[in-house]
Amino acid sequence: MTATRIDDLPLRDELRGKFPYGAPQLDVPVRLNTNENPYPLPDALVARIAERVTEAARHLNRYPDRDAVELREKLAGYLTRTTGHPVGRAQVWAANGSNEILQQLLQAFGGPGRQAIGFEPSYSMHALIARGTGTGWLSGPRGEDFTIDAPAARQAIAAHRPHVVFVCSPNNPTGTAVDAATVLALYDAAQAARPEGGGALVVVDEAYTEFSHHPSLLPLLAGRPNLVISRTMSKAFGAAGLRLGYLAADPAVVDAVQLVRLPYHLSAVTQATALAALEHTDTLLGYVAQLKAERDRLVTELRALGCRVTDSDANFVQFGRFEEADGGARGAWRALLDRGVLVRDNGVPGWLRVTAGTPEENDAFLDAVRELMKAINERRNA
Ligand SMILES: *Cc1c(COP(=O)(O)O)cnc(C)c1O
Repeated sequence: MTATRIDDLPLRDELRGKFPYGAPQLDVPVRLNTNENPYPLPDALVARIAERVTEAARHLNRYPDRDAVELREKLAGYLTRTTGHPVGRAQVWAANGSNEILQQLLQAFGGPGRQAIGFEPSYSMHALIARGTGTGWLSGPRGEDFTIDAPAARQAIAAHRPHVVFVCSPNNPTGTAVDAATVLALYDAAQAARPEGGGALVVVDEAYTEFSHHPSLLPLLAGRPNLVISRTMSKAFGAAGLRLGYLAADPAVVDAVQLVRLPYHLSAVTQATALAALEHTDTLLGYVAQLKAERDRLVTELRALGCRVTDSDANFVQFGRFEEADGGARGAWRALLDRGVLVRDNGVPGWLRVTAGTPEENDAFLDAVRELMKAINERRNA
């Protein structure tokens, strides 16, 4: 009997020949490829999680709070405190990572016969979740410097009339932030392009906003029912393993995603753990200040080594350019891996992305780049 292949199955046509999301999880000394926080959770928080999870465990015979009321209340408090913009529980929704938030949004506002647009290069999951939900995908333009060119973006929206617009700020993998004026221009263009049927949903993915030089775009929610701010505890909170993402939007958007969410999607253990982490917000955000300083140091030192570096508002840095004659981004990625440092090749020609790690990890990375640049220069001069 021969093994069954995926293509032998009655799979949806648009999934045939495709590959799953897969950042390599390689066992190397310095792993700076998935924008995780390098610091383990502090002991006091680990103990608090144990306490809250123990309490939750006593009730695991019951389904969890389907509406995650306490958690949403605490997330709303966090947003209010950190942005100065009042946010209430009814404006917040939580799910298993912001990827699930984005999936629920596309299930409710995208789907067959509808289209979403993103400005690429950007977060690859936006396109993948579109595909998974049967939503058409449109690749919008970015400028040479990787910022969103507002007039070009507005033109793309007017031409294609998408139902959902993704704006990633700060953008992954480039690190660039989007200013409020650009988001407003895109929002207005998206509504103008779809004058009937309630307009178009604009999703601002703020996974990295805590690392930004710029304030959150959350205050733009006022008076804009089709705007959604998506957030996560995977990056600034250093809790990628927790799987907790959330959104802030008009309460009507929260009502809409409840039409598609699975019942009891957020386990009692997840809710308890997230609540414990939110009690330690100040400690966790202390690491953010450290990581921002390390991010800025990476930018400065990479430039001193002769690399081009895109200005970064995130906990990672895009650097290059590795010309094809020098082995391209793939060759540079391999050379760094050979020196024990794993970075990310996002498929942007000539560019790689490195996550800000601990000072020691960053030193190891910079040493590896120094050797790589030396080797490239020697080869060029040979
Ligand atoms: C890492 C990342 C996320 C986070 O996804 P989670 O599912 O919350 O871990 C979301 N958006 C972008 C742009 C990211 O880079």
